[in-house]
Amino acid sequence: MLTRRLFIAATAALSLAASASYVHAQDKGLVGISMPTKSSTRWISDGESMVKEFEAKGYATDLQYAEDDIPNQLAQIENMVTKGAKVLVIAAIDGTTLSDVLKRASEAGAKIVAYDRLIRDSANVDYYSTFDNFKVGVLQAESLVAGLKERFPDQKPWNVELFGGSPDDNNAFFFYDGAMSVLQPMIDAGEIAIASGQMGMDTVGTLRWDGAVAQARMDNLLSANYTDKKVHGVLSPYDGLSRGIISSLKGVGYAPGPEMPIVTGQDAEVASVKAMMAGEQYSTVFKDTRELAKTTAEMVDAVMSGGEPKINDTTTYNNGVKVVPSNLLVPYSVGQGDIQKLLIDSGYIKAEELQ
Ligand code: BGC
Repeated sequence: MLTRRLFIAATAALSLAASASYVHAQDKGLVGISMPTKSSTRWISDGESMVKEFEAKGYATDLQYAEDDIPNQLAQIENMVTKGAKVLVIAAIDGTTLSDVLKRASEAGAKIVAYDRLIRDSANVDYYSTFDNFKVGVLQAESLVAGLKERFPDQKPWNVELFGGSPDDNNAFFFYDGAMSVLQPMIDAGEIAIASGQMGMDTVGTLRWDGAVAQARMDNLLSANYTDKKVHGVLSPYDGLSRGIISSLKGVGYAPGPEMPIVTGQDAEVASVKAMMAGEQYSTVFKDTRELAKTTAEMVDAVMSGGEPKINDTTTYNNGVKVVPSNLLVPYSVGQGDIQKLLIDSGYIKAEELQ
C-alpha cells in the first residue's frame, strides 16, 4: 500500500514537473527558425542546436527547412508570423526575397535575426549572427597555396581553377573576395595561372551551392583547358561543391597521390572529412555551428529581456538599406593533421562516423 501511494505521488510529481517544463518552454514566446535546406549536414546541425538552446532558455520553437525553394521558405516564414512568433531566426536561401514578409513580421512586433547569411534589401533585420566570412575565404586560399607549395613545389606557375558559391547568398561574395585577397596578387605576379581565364563571381558562381552544377562545370573546364596540362589546384568554397569537383577530377584519371590537385572546402561535412582522410580533398573550414546556435540564442534572449546583445561588428555588413549590427565567430582551417583535435576532440564529429 505504502509503495503504491509512493508510486502515485511520484507519478503526480513527475507529470507536474513535465507540465511545468512545458509551460516554461512556452512562456518566453515562440521563436521561428527558418533554415534553407537539409541537403547539407551543417544546416541540420544548426537547426537541432538552436532548438536545444532556445528551449533551454524557455522559448518554444518552430523549426522549418525550405529545401532550397524560395516560395517554400516564404510560406514557412508567413506561417511563423501567423502563429505569433516573437522572434524569427532566418538563414535565407536568397537573401533579397524576404522584404515583404519581414515588413509584416516587424509590424507585428517580431525581432528578426539573420542567421549565418545576411538578409539583404530590408530595413527589418535587427541583428546578424554569423562567422567572419571574409576570413573563411582567406583561410581557403591560404590552405590552397600551402597545398600547392607542398605538393607541387617546382611546378610554378600553378594551374588553378576558381569556384564561387551561390550568387544569391551574400556570403558567397565574402568568401570569394577573401580568397582573392590572397590569390589575386599571386595571379598578378605570374605564380598562379587560371587556364580557363574564368574569374569573378558572375562567372564562377554556383547557383544554390549545387554540387552537380560544380561537377558539370569542372568537367567542361577540364575538357576545354587541360587536355595537354595538369590542373594543380581548385578553389572550392563548400564541401558539397568539392565533392562534385573531385568526382570530375577522378573521372579524368586524377587519384590520391602526388598529382592529385589541391581542393579546398568548407563546413567539415563528414563525407568530405572522409575524402580528406583518403587524400582526395586537401582541406576544409570548420565553423562550429553549435557555437553559432548558442550565441544566437544568447543574442535573442538579451534583446527579449530588454538588454543589449553582444555585438562585435558594426561596420562590415551593409545589407543595401542599413548596416546590420553583427556578431562574428571565428572560422578554423582544417587540414588532415587537424581532424582529431578540431573535429573529433571537440565532439563535432564522432570518431565512428569517420570509419
Ligand atoms: C554558409 C556555408 C555553407 C553554404 C552552403 C553558406 O551561406 O555560410 O557554411 O557551406 O552556405 O550551404
